[in-house]
Amino acid sequence: MTARISHWIDGKHWAGVAERTGEVFDPATGEVRAHVDFAGAGQVDEAVTAAARAFPGWRDTSLAARSRILFAFRELLTARKDELAKIITAEHGKVESDAAGEVARAIENVEYACGAPQMLKGGFSENASRGVDVYSIAQPLGVVGVISPFNFPAMVPLWFVPNAIACGNTVVLKPSEKDPSASVFIAGLLAEAGLPDGVLNVLHGDKVAVDGLLAHPVVKAISFVGSTPIARYVYETGTNHGKRVQALGGAKNHLVVLPDADLDLAADAAVSAGFGSAGERCMAVSVVVAVEPVAGELVAKVTERMSRLKVGDGRDPSSEMGPLVTAAHRAKVQSYVDAGISEGAELVVDGRDIAVPGGGFWLGPTLFDRVTPEMSVYRDEIFGPVLSVVRAESYDAALELVNAGAYGNGTAIFTNDGRAARRFQNEVEVGMVGLNVPIPVPVGYYSFGGWKDSLFGDSHAYGPEGFHFFTRTKVVTSRWPDPSHGGVNLGFPRNS
Ligand code: NAD
Repeated sequence: MTARISHWIDGKHWAGVAERTGEVFDPATGEVRAHVDFAGAGQVDEAVTAAARAFPGWRDTSLAARSRILFAFRELLTARKDELAKIITAEHGKVESDAAGEVARAIENVEYACGAPQMLKGGFSENASRGVDVYSIAQPLGVVGVISPFNFPAMVPLWFVPNAIACGNTVVLKPSEKDPSASVFIAGLLAEAGLPDGVLNVLHGDKVAVDGLLAHPVVKAISFVGSTPIARYVYETGTNHGKRVQALGGAKNHLVVLPDADLDLAADAAVSAGFGSAGERCMAVSVVVAVEPVAGELVAKVTERMSRLKVGDGRDPSSEMGPLVTAAHRAKVQSYVDAGISEGAELVVDGRDIAVPGGGFWLGPTLFDRVTPEMSVYRDEIFGPVLSVVRAESYDAALELVNAGAYGNGTAIFTNDGRAARRFQNEVEVGMVGLNVPIPVPVGYYSFGGWKDSLFGDSHAYGPEGFHFFTRTKVVTSRWPDPSHGGVNLGFPRNS
């Protein structure tokens, strides 16, 4: 019998019987390692009700106490980071060093949330008018929903949960059904850190659970991360139900290499950002725009590095790239490789027949050259280890290409020319930009978010915008009557 993964509601594992379950695979072997319970409407209501019950007590918990729980959580997470990394690898497939990197970035967000007392300070204007003070208070929203994707099963939940609870909200987290264990582990650590029951609930499932949260009248806000079609759907449905929604979507990130760039550095970056986590990252580089005359040389350098990339089980420390998350996803990624060939792209490295022992969902690193914007390998988010090279004649042509894309998540430029880099940062229509940095994921004290089809709503994730998203501001205008006008005189000097 395989293990069962169930919801975490009101501070404990859910003990009911699920009407539907899903399979959770070990992507390196292809075996089913667990079954996860899928929530129906009843469990959605149970989790939301637990969160609603916990809200009044939690919103009145002092800032110092909330912050102390987050500090304790940070210590527990740090002490058990290797265990969490192994859980991620077992269900997602990414290599353990990469999973450890994910946990490290997640901890950054917890550390930021520990500063809640500072972040939640309001403004105060004394004597806005004579004897009148005006001040602002940032208050929590209530019950908020967090819906996360498979590719960062610990980090993306922790983009939101620490900030949401730091602000005094209670949370129902619906992680990806493909790798649900990391969320349950996190919920257990938060409970150990002293988080009261019901403040964080983890609800597993699919569209049924998501739709339940989107329609539930008690849920005030939704933070979503996933593919663009679902992000758009979640944004539209959630806002139609009167909720505050931030929905981060998919990506197609370009790395522009100018002719003056250090080509070795650029090739290293293309390979690590293109094939790290088997390309299953929303900030992965999927298109290299090589500005002539360097395309040939750059493709040769990338190809040489790809030949040295070790693909294997993420638990083997010598592996640099693991399998894809499921067989279905592997088949979808391979269908893009097939389409690229039939659409006329030049297949430089073919990862389709890679031989890795065991029955996992393997696809080797794949490189296309002479890709053009009409091809599906260029247009669509593939979310796998497939890198496309587009050859551009000039900086202007490269910029035009990047700006014509539907997505605007991340981009990078490699150059030694500060003026060109500065122009790029100014002109490019993308939310996160790297200058000689291939994956410019903002640190925890900035905020993460793309433009265009990569984000629906106006708040980016975590950092200052996270605190803004999880609070609503109240402005108080106050005047205390002068006792000379009929109040009780307590002996204070009268207003002159
Ligand atoms: P996904 O859109 O399939 O799933 C995301 C979440 O939505 C999951 O919790 C899933 O259960 C739920 N879901 C799936 N189908 C649904 C439906 N029809 N109705 C309602 N809910 C549904 O995404 P994924 O495959 O898990 O993750 C990969 C995607 O996430 C990629 O597109 C990637 O670019 C994107 N992503 C974006 C960011 C970002 O910050 N912009 C970060 C990570 C991942």
